[in-house]
Amino acid sequence: ILEVNKLSKSFGTSTVLHNISFTVHAGEIISVLGPSGCGKSTLLQLIAGLQQPEAGEIRLRGEIAASAERFVPPEKRRINMVFQDYALWPHMSIYENIAYGLRRQKIASSVIKERISKLLELLRLHGLENRLPAQLSGGQQQRVAIARALATEPDLLLLDEPLSNLDMRLRIEMRAEMAFLFRQLGTTVFHVTHDPDEAFAMADRLMIMRAGAIDQIDTPQVCYSRPATLSAAMLLGAGN
Ligand code: ATP
Ligand code: MG
Repeated sequence: ILEVNKLSKSFGTSTVLHNISFTVHAGEIISVLGPSGCGKSTLLQLIAGLQQPEAGEIRLRGEIAASAERFVPPEKRRINMVFQDYALWPHMSIYENIAYGLRRQKIASSVIKERISKLLELLRLHGLENRLPAQLSGGQQQRVAIARALATEPDLLLLDEPLSNLDMRLRIEMRAEMAFLFRQLGTTVFHVTHDPDEAFAMADRLMIMRAGAIDQIDTPQVCYSRPATLSAAMLLGAGN
């Protein structure tokens, strides 16, 4: 569903992504692991269309989304993103936060109502729909951000360290819950984290990055038992 070919990106004189290529299949959960500053968030922003590549191409559903000749704007990519700080709209109720993207798509309000009630159920948020974000716990806010991102039924969901604001207990609970939910819905997920345990708990395949390049893409088991580089081994070992 997503193909990245020889993608590069620099800011000024520093190269942040260097000739990166990989493929994500429909329904897969990929977790990206790598040290701070290796270019994970930049990669997500390129896929989402929030940044333009300098070289290479990004294909979605087989069609070019970004290349030297072509640039499809973010709102036309059928991708949604959940940020580290959730970025909920503080003045809108939970219901309105989730409904926002659907209203923009001019979906009938009866359909919106039905879809939101299903999401509230799935994410255990029912009864909270009239509250404001500030009146929810961190874990609940995080689930609202996911509900909002799933509401428009994107082809690809991008998660940038979605659990890093939560305490350890909630993180362990949420990562199992999210992996279960995404598998149940068949959502394709590209998930950035710095927590190897989170990646192991969620991913079908791991993508291990270092300094703007990919060290290894493989199942968690293979990455763990046969790391491609010393730094991949250290990255995975650090969580255990
Ligand atoms: P972290 O784990 O800390 O979130 P990351 O892997 O997500 O790190 P990026 O945010 O992609 O890293 O940043 C990669 C490099 O690019 C960093 O050196 C950062 O300073 C630089 N960078 C990112 N965005 C910009 C920008 N808009 N302008 C200039 N430099 C940037
Ligand atoms: Mg980042």
